[in-house]
Amino acid sequence: MTDMMENLKDKLKEKGYKLTPQRRATLDTIMENQGKHMSTEEIYDLVKEKCPEIGLATVYRTLQLLDELGVISKINFDDGCSRYELNTHEDDHQHHHLICLKCGKVIEVEMDLLEVLEEEIEKNYNFEIEDHKVKFFGYCDACKKIL
Ligand SMILES: [Zn+2]
Ligand SMILES: [Zn+2]
Ligand SMILES: [Zn+2]
Repeated sequence: MTDMMENLKDKLKEKGYKLTPQRRATLDTIMENQGKHMSTEEIYDLVKEKCPEIGLATVYRTLQLLDELGVISKINFDDGCSRYELNTHEDDHQHHHLICLKCGKVIEVEMDLLEVLEEEIEKNYNFEIEDHKVKFFGYCDACKKIL
């Protein structure tokens, strides 16, 4: 069993839940598609291949539970649906997302780069920052050429 699965098992146990085959299949699917930012429906279509009897409502609830437990996070790219991604480093801040206005491609920026801003905010607003979600909208390399 992977560390991720072991970690989920512990978190579920703490809350009195069990690692059911459906929950396992859902997390497996997200892990196998890391970096893809899939919607509930897209995840459901893939989970069905592992668990043909699973329903959309179960996948939906499982995603909410995984989000609550901090195993995955929900992101909204303003394209009308919620998308999910794995929280790979528990103590790290969220990476940033570059969203192409033309083709909808999502590019990840792995660096935080906000340390100076975070420090200023914490000092000036007496606010303790835990995380952030930053989205940049613009045009990707391919779309820029045909603008
Ligand atoms: Zn940060
Ligand atoms: Zn593009
Ligand atoms: Zn991402």
